[in-house]
Amino acid sequence: MEQHIQQQRDFFQTDATKPLAFRKEQLLKLKRILQENEEAMADAIHKDFKKSAFDCYTNELGLLYLDIKEAVKNLKKWAGPKRQWSNLINFPSKNYIIREPFGVSLIIGAWNYPFQLSFAPVIAAIAAGNTVILKPSEVPSHTSSLIAKMVNENFDPRFFRVVEGGVPETTELLEQKFDKVFFTGSVPVGKIVYQAAAKHLTPVTLEIGGKSPAFITEKCDLNVALRRLLWGKFLNAGQTCIAPDYILVHEKIKDEFISKAKAFIDEQAYSFERGNYVQIINERNMQRLEKLIDPEKVVYGGEINHEERYISPTLMDNVSFDDPIMQEEIFGPILPIIAYSDLSTVIAQVKARPKPLACYILTKERNKKEQILHSLSFGGGAVNETIMHITNSNLPFGGVGDSGIGNYHGEAGFLAFSHQKSIMEKQTWFEPSFKFAPYTDKKFKLVRWLIGR
Ligand code: NAD
Repeated sequence: MEQHIQQQRDFFQTDATKPLAFRKEQLLKLKRILQENEEAMADAIHKDFKKSAFDCYTNELGLLYLDIKEAVKNLKKWAGPKRQWSNLINFPSKNYIIREPFGVSLIIGAWNYPFQLSFAPVIAAIAAGNTVILKPSEVPSHTSSLIAKMVNENFDPRFFRVVEGGVPETTELLEQKFDKVFFTGSVPVGKIVYQAAAKHLTPVTLEIGGKSPAFITEKCDLNVALRRLLWGKFLNAGQTCIAPDYILVHEKIKDEFISKAKAFIDEQAYSFERGNYVQIINERNMQRLEKLIDPEKVVYGGEINHEERYISPTLMDNVSFDDPIMQEEIFGPILPIIAYSDLSTVIAQVKARPKPLACYILTKERNKKEQILHSLSFGGGAVNETIMHITNSNLPFGGVGDSGIGNYHGEAGFLAFSHQKSIMEKQTWFEPSFKFAPYTDKKFKLVRWLIGR
């Protein structure tokens, strides 16, 4: 590991990664490699958890193509110096910010969208001029080895290398000094990564998860809201960091919600064969999810097949904040439903818990929307929609509190991998004397006038 990193550090020190032409060339190369491997990628991810080619394109590859297109288009603008105003005390001066790459970056991926979560930060890191060591999640083994093959057979390892492995390999990597660490994964591992980075004072971005609530207020367009909400919940069989984890629905419309939700799930007929459903990633998660299902509270679904690693879309009614399913991020196709009568009370209950990565508000009531948006702290979210905010790269994506540190996508991603170097440039033709002794009354007055109070 030490050697890999030293090689990249030596390469970075040559400034070879800094010219925009180099960055653009590498981004386009990555695009070509993705294009050439589309079939292999769809095949690998299907082997890992039966994800369909449609899903592989729409929620993995398609997003990467958009990211590359956007980065290439905006590279000059993002990387160029940013002019800033001077202040009176420094007049006349030219002030600007140079966005410089940190250097050698380490990117650690999660398993649930293995291609997207590995390569999206890589695109940001390359655009910003860094070298990259990528450690994809080892859990989906076919995608992990394909990612390694795609990268290590095509890129100069002094610039971009994939290191495969699980806990021992990641632990060894984290002992090394990087200039930036970007991690996607769970809260406990996020803490391990943060501590390891702290030893070297390495800046981090931590993209973590959490229990993201969805509010459905009394007055909403239930037919549309429900489709968007359930689509977001059962996408990837609920194994999505920003999936609506649980529902807070106004008690007056709860029964209507449940009956319409059942009809929607029937209509969608979620199955591996239809390509709109995936397996639970492994047996460990099957067992974890099975324990969270309270058969007494299941009003729909609840079918489990260990051999197939299948859990059907499941609705649980009459759930309370004290139930086991409300104590951890579900990360599976189980939807707890909590009815509320008073919005302020339920907001207070959510506020008492760790800050979520996302929050969704399904409503036609402007005042309630504003109340939730301004009272609750969460990473990001959507009104009358779920998940889709992640697809607009003009919206920085990331968590707050327990759901993460920092953000990325679009220009925010570029900044996540850049240091902002502030420069003040002065001419030599003007040299005010007030900085230098003797500090006369006149100078003191002038300085007080310039600074103010
Ligand atoms: P995880 O934390 O188990 O693993 C993430 C990465 O850390 C993997 O590459 C893994 O190999 C590595 N790792 C695991 N244990 C480690 C250890 N002890 N020391 C060092 N490295 C270790 O997470 P996961 O199961 O892959 O992903 C699920 C979690 O990720 C969920 O909580 C989900 O919400 C979150 N997530 C967040 C986002 C986001 O963008 N915010 C996206 C996807 C997933």
